Amino acid sequence: MADMTGSKIWANSADSHIVEPPGVFDSLPEHIRERMPRSVKDPSGEFETIYIDGQEFRRAMPKPTPGKEKKGLGINARPVDSEEDEFITRTIQGNDPAHRLRDLDGEGIWAEAIYPSLGIWAFNIRTPEVARAGARALNEFALDFQSNSPRFVCAASIPFVDADDAVAEIRWAADAGFHLGFLPVQPPFGRPDWNDEEWDPMWAAFAETGMVIGIHIGTEPVDPSGRIGVYYRGRGGAVLNYVETTYGGQRAVTKLIACGALDRHPALRVLVSEGGATWGPFIADRMDEGYRQHGAAVKPVLSKPPSQFLYEQVYASFQHDRSAVAAQWAMGWKNVMWGSDYPHFEGTFGHTQKTLHELFDGVDPEVSRRIRIGAFQELFPHVPELPADRQS
Ligand code: MN
Repeated sequence: MADMTGSKIWANSADSHIVEPPGVFDSLPEHIRERMPRSVKDPSGEFETIYIDGQEFRRAMPKPTPGKEKKGLGINARPVDSEEDEFITRTIQGNDPAHRLRDLDGEGIWAEAIYPSLGIWAFNIRTPEVARAGARALNEFALDFQSNSPRFVCAASIPFVDADDAVAEIRWAADAGFHLGFLPVQPPFGRPDWNDEEWDPMWAAFAETGMVIGIHIGTEPVDPSGRIGVYYRGRGGAVLNYVETTYGGQRAVTKLIACGALDRHPALRVLVSEGGATWGPFIADRMDEGYRQHGAAVKPVLSKPPSQFLYEQVYASFQHDRSAVAAQWAMGWKNVMWGSDYPHFEGTFGHTQKTLHELFDGVDPEVSRRIRIGAFQELFPHVPELPADRQS
């Protein structure tokens, strides 16, 4: 067994983000631009108001842990004055392709699946024309960014208000060079759920184009109450709300399998980012039990047990979870992946090497390599392999 203790470990990240710069919607006509998602922070910095297509939502700003050891900003970082500034600085630097690549090299990350930020809000747009124009503007920005390095795998934004519009944008995006499309854990508010027949042409378009479906957890649609990510208050709320964000990805995968979408499209691949990995074998067991024990009520009938679609066509990334590596070798889910979640506070930026060593030192090299590198290469074979000097 190769001893990686003390040496640099390399990994691909199945969960990273880019924060679109102000002005990403500037090319749009005024009446559409004013309906695009934008955030206005309170002077206190504790809350932000998000405006989307005539809707308005408030949420608490994500914060680092008070007193947490400064993690630094990687190579060539400029000094920062406060933790708020740290996040903003990291975000701005992450938008500079050269700086981002230096950061990745410093952290030991080769390639990244990069989700949008405003794009994660944009699916809440309810006006079809606005949704189409917004997705296209976000995609043009992401394509431009992606063109800076084959190590960047940006996710396309898709307008979900209308299934035909979604199909059209998936086809355009695949032609334009996207290999990944962002899917929220649920459709926009008021639309049929992902197991509904309405979306069948969309799954077909993903399968035909070879674009991977990238589900990022925590992307429930905003509802008319204006609530975002707050399900519990009071005692235990922070932990309750954080754990709650993981369930949406599991539900979405269960829907795609149970409705037969993965069965009808064996080429379809689904990545669930940031939601951990140990849930996969658990959900697989539950689906099989339901499928078998309630067989008389099951429709559609699938060509094989539901668990097999999960094990073969679904992938999942975690960042710190201690049990996730065992989901691969002990529970048999070969599609466990790792992700940095750069530049978010849940992520590993600044301590990636420490985390990778804690997770992988002493782990079977084949298992370790599959989780860090191999599964990502399988999903995105166009990404060049790691150079010889970055193979550990
Ligand atoms: Mn993430």
